[in-house]
Amino acid sequence: PEERKPEDEDLDPSCACLCCWDVLVDPVTLLCQHTFCLHCLALWFDVSERDVCPQCLEEWFIYPEIDVELRDTVNGLFYSSVQRRRSQIQRDARISRSLRRLERYFQLEMKFYLYVICYTLIGLCFYMQNLLSSIDILTTDPATKWNPNDVASWLDMMGPWAEQYKEAFKQGIDYGR
Ligand SMILES: [Zn+2]
Ligand SMILES: [Zn+2]
Repeated sequence: PEERKPEDEDLDPSCACLCCWDVLVDPVTLLCQHTFCLHCLALWFDVSERDVCPQCLEEWFIYPEIDVELRDTVNGLFYSSVQRRRSQIQRDARISRSLRRLERYFQLEMKFYLYVICYTLIGLCFYMQNLLSSIDILTTDPATKWNPNDVASWLDMMGPWAEQYKEAFKQGIDYGR
């Protein structure tokens, strides 16, 4: 049976890239539901320096994954065209560079988000620890048994507004000696 060519007028719009208007190679569908070849998106990203949809300018947020189901469908319908384009793409140094750049950009972005999550968790742990130890003092020791250090750390925990009382309290301790 004869293979259909991308030049065919009956190229199904759902099998065409919105960037190059040719048959889709490694199609990715963005959150906005616009579909492009992965390499077309990489070239667009390289030129525009923005991670937005070339069609509607909506942000991608995540690395555009290849739509495997659509890729197989397009491969089945336009096998030789896809193969021809694929070998062109692989030979194109500029496309390879853009693809690598896109991948690196998202790796860096992922690392950044991981750091933010880690630091938030660590901060939350310290906060909980402080909270628990403050409950500890207040519930296990009656206030009359607090030593000056307990009072100082309690004033510490009260936050910046207690600063003046803390200073006054510390001076009181010094004079008392
Ligand atoms: Zn394309
Ligand atoms: Zn879009």
